Amino acid sequence: MEDKRIIELHGIGEKRAELFRKRGINTLSELLCFFPRTHEDRTEIKSIADCTDNEEVCVLGEVYTPVSLVRVRKNMTIAQMTVRDESAAMQIVWYNNKYVKGMYHTGERYVIYGKVVRDKFGKRQMVNPVIEKEGKAKFTGKIVPIYPLSGNLTQKVVQTVMEAAIKEAGRLDEYMPVSVRNKYGIAEINYAINNIHFPKDAHSYGVARRRFVFEELLILQLALLSRKDKTEEYTGTVFEDTRCVDEFVGSLPFSLTGAQKRTLDEILNDCSGGRAMNRLVQGDVGSGKTAVAAAAIYAAVRNSHQAAMMAPTEILAKQHKETLDKFFDGTGIKTVLLTGSMRQADKKEAYSMIKDGMYDVVIGTHALVQEGLVFDDLALVVTDEQHRFGVEQRAKLLSKGNDPHMLIMSATPIPRTLALILYGDLDISIIDELPPGRKEVKTYAVGENMRERIYAFLEKSVSEGMQAYIVCPLVEDTEKSDLENAVDLCERLQERFTNFSVGLMHGKMKATEKDAVMNDFSDGKINILVSTTVIEVGVNVPNANIMIIENAERFGLSQLHQLRGRVGRGNEQAYCIMFAHGNNEITKKRMETMCISNDGFYISEQDLKLRGPGDFFGTRQHGLPQMRIANLFSDRDILKEAQEAAKDIIQNGCLKEKEFLPLQKRIDRLLTDNIVMN
Ligand code: ADP
Ligand code: MG
Repeated sequence: MEDKRIIELHGIGEKRAELFRKRGINTLSELLCFFPRTHEDRTEIKSIADCTDNEEVCVLGEVYTPVSLVRVRKNMTIAQMTVRDESAAMQIVWYNNKYVKGMYHTGERYVIYGKVVRDKFGKRQMVNPVIEKEGKAKFTGKIVPIYPLSGNLTQKVVQTVMEAAIKEAGRLDEYMPVSVRNKYGIAEINYAINNIHFPKDAHSYGVARRRFVFEELLILQLALLSRKDKTEEYTGTVFEDTRCVDEFVGSLPFSLTGAQKRTLDEILNDCSGGRAMNRLVQGDVGSGKTAVAAAAIYAAVRNSHQAAMMAPTEILAKQHKETLDKFFDGTGIKTVLLTGSMRQADKKEAYSMIKDGMYDVVIGTHALVQEGLVFDDLALVVTDEQHRFGVEQRAKLLSKGNDPHMLIMSATPIPRTLALILYGDLDISIIDELPPGRKEVKTYAVGENMRERIYAFLEKSVSEGMQAYIVCPLVEDTEKSDLENAVDLCERLQERFTNFSVGLMHGKMKATEKDAVMNDFSDGKINILVSTTVIEVGVNVPNANIMIIENAERFGLSQLHQLRGRVGRGNEQAYCIMFAHGNNEITKKRMETMCISNDGFYISEQDLKLRGPGDFFGTRQHGLPQMRIANLFSDRDILKEAQEAAKDIIQNGCLKEKEFLPLQKRIDRLLTDNIVMN
């Protein structure tokens, strides 16, 4: 099918096209794949008297008194009309909508869809309902799609445009090979498109949805698997002696946890096996990933090679250098820090010493991928918090060695089953055990009524020498939003706590400014740090033991957990206090989960459960594409089938067959659109 631009469609002019463009929809096929978030069943028409309060229903009403406008105050008008059927009457109400006056005439009959509520006199009313003339109803008396919208696009516009677009598109070509469709019972494309948007009934919707979920997961799996093929060719440097690591482990001031030992064994196995390691280590903050990485680096150096460690920010790189220096004290291992802000002369000297193999370990930011840097014998690359790096950067660093081993450390735990699926191209080690003696962060979800008590607690704790983070969803008050913003809150807190130094940090600041603030906080010059989520991937400040999160309802579970991980790194009891607003059920469950658990793997599983379709946590952090329709938790069964199908297809070399060409194109597109996956 030739792909039309949506502006060529009926009912779409420049203005609407622009609104769709903002949602990433430019072409007819993109529009057709803009799937509804849910459907409303408007098939049944109820009599007004039978409507229960707060029920969303369709009624068939005759206009009894036409629209009248009442101006209640300067900026507020209320428009009202009365409709009735044989059973009862009902008010229809619009706020600030003058245009409805004169639209509906006495005696005309309309199908009206909305939520029935009671006004203060106990009379039934509907506010801003969907109204369509009897006999001409397009979106009442049917199962109607509801799209994930925000901004100026309305449901009605999208519904109308979608209906026209499906007609306009005509018969679509099937691109799912018939062998696959038959084997897995996958609906045909035309049936699926029609019924995903305008299903006849719940069953046809289910069948249609299954097709697109399967398709999305199959393409993802195929993309991941075809990538794995590429990476398995490298041979890697063989570390002859891995027993040497015992000395290092023995020199540590603690003994490794079981999970650390297991992970280290897996790493050493890889490095001595004659194939380049490609391993992801997942573990909560504080689970001791760095110590494991240090052991791997030790092995590289003792086998006469060099190692590199890349961190996302300068200050984190510095911290890693300090940590490694402590670990390697007395071993004679030489480390060096390379950052963007180094003086040219220092850099040059470091470069030349690295090239000559005088330094064993190079720690740095993306300064490590720069052209001029050449290693003598780079055999191991460790990257911290991988989501901050593109694959390209990693690849550049890898190219500086002779198939070096790659160790990726991630502090974003995801459930094991999911990790296996999403990181089909990496081997995975999971550190799911914290070192003994760690205190859980005491976590509370509170309402606005607790603010004074919380501030009193904050004041007391800071007077006793503790430090606190306060996280806000916004940087500044640009959108006249109800949400708390860091700039204003910082000012208010500084006025209130005149004895303390209140600092500010957010994403609009330059990297050097952020580093400076973080340094001051780390040195204790700042007592309370008000910030946005930029602190998420952060520096270890053991003295910071209070985390207050504003508008916690705005954050996903995994993100809340990540933020909480900033505190509780010292010996004192740490606290996390979340101000949450609204009565949303999902918010309540999220808060509850945070309060009862400190376990990142458990929390990520709950996160997956609580998220809606297409709204997969951590996809961006993990550099994976946003799921359009699949929910990786509730669609686990389809996921298994898609995995099986993908393995089958790859193993039998099907992708080269003509029938699979359209699928291959979609895989290629997914890979090019997501550079991180390449
Ligand atoms: P991560 O990198 O996973 O966030 P770190 O490696 O920074 O965690 O470890 C956090 C802290 O715990 C460090 O101070 C580290 O020295 C310490 N640590 C690591 N492993 C152990 C262990 N097995 N027993 C006790 N303390 C440990
Ligand atoms: Mg760490």
